[in-house]
Amino acid sequence: MINITNLHKSYKMGANSLHVLKGINFEVAEGELVSIMGSSGSGKSTLLNILGMLDEADEGSYILDGVPIKGLSEKQAAKYRNKFLGFIFQSFNLISYKSALDNVALPLYYQGLPRGERMDKAMSYLEKVGLAKWSGHLPNELSGGQKQRVAIARALASDPKVLLADEPTGALDTKTSYEVMDLIQQINDEGRTILVVTHENDIAQMTKRIVNLRDGLIIEDTLVSQIRASENV
Ligand code: ATP
Ligand code: MG
Repeated sequence: MINITNLHKSYKMGANSLHVLKGINFEVAEGELVSIMGSSGSGKSTLLNILGMLDEADEGSYILDGVPIKGLSEKQAAKYRNKFLGFIFQSFNLISYKSALDNVALPLYYQGLPRGERMDKAMSYLEKVGLAKWSGHLPNELSGGQKQRVAIARALASDPKVLLADEPTGALDTKTSYEVMDLIQQINDEGRTILVVTHENDIAQMTKRIVNLRDGLIIEDTLVSQIRASENV
């Protein structure tokens, strides 16, 4: 599903430049649930933004579902991104003056779906995340965990092949974090490919594979089942 080879990324800062990704090689198959870990500043968000086609690498190749991203025009890239990728952020990024239902329906509006269909589909996704009763509420009338559920329903509404989550539990307490990860696991069980950036080991342990970044490189790439097995020896 995701295939990256020798990915490099630097940020220009005046006369200097900061080399953040220094040759990342990484493959994710369809249906995987992967966490990307690393200390603050290690380049997790940079990598996720490139995978999400929100930013471009300086060097290296990125192939998403068989399509080389570099070869796409800006317009093609935008279309591809909307079709293939869903995003979840630490800060939820909901529209404050729109109800939960309208937030979830928004990507469907951009897809050109008629209003009735949009609302039905949005409602079915709110039901899926357990929030049907809250459909008419504004984001500030919802708890953090509920807001993240709305954001997850919104990310699912366009039926993306890959979900990218940048610290989805970063703003939540421990119990709510586990509930949100339960939901992410459930969505993965249905076959969707999911990448979760986190710096919390507990959260990473709830995925199936942990990729560790340090100094711009992947220093560890392990299946959680293998970690468990080695702990039980
Ligand atoms: P955190 O855990 O704090 O979210 P991170 O692993 O996600 O960290 P990144 O946000 O990818 O780290 O940042 C990696 C490095 O690149 C940091 O040193 C950061 O300051 C720098 N950086 C990130 N974005 C930019 C930018 N747009 N311009 C310049 N430097 C940037
Ligand atoms: Mg980050």
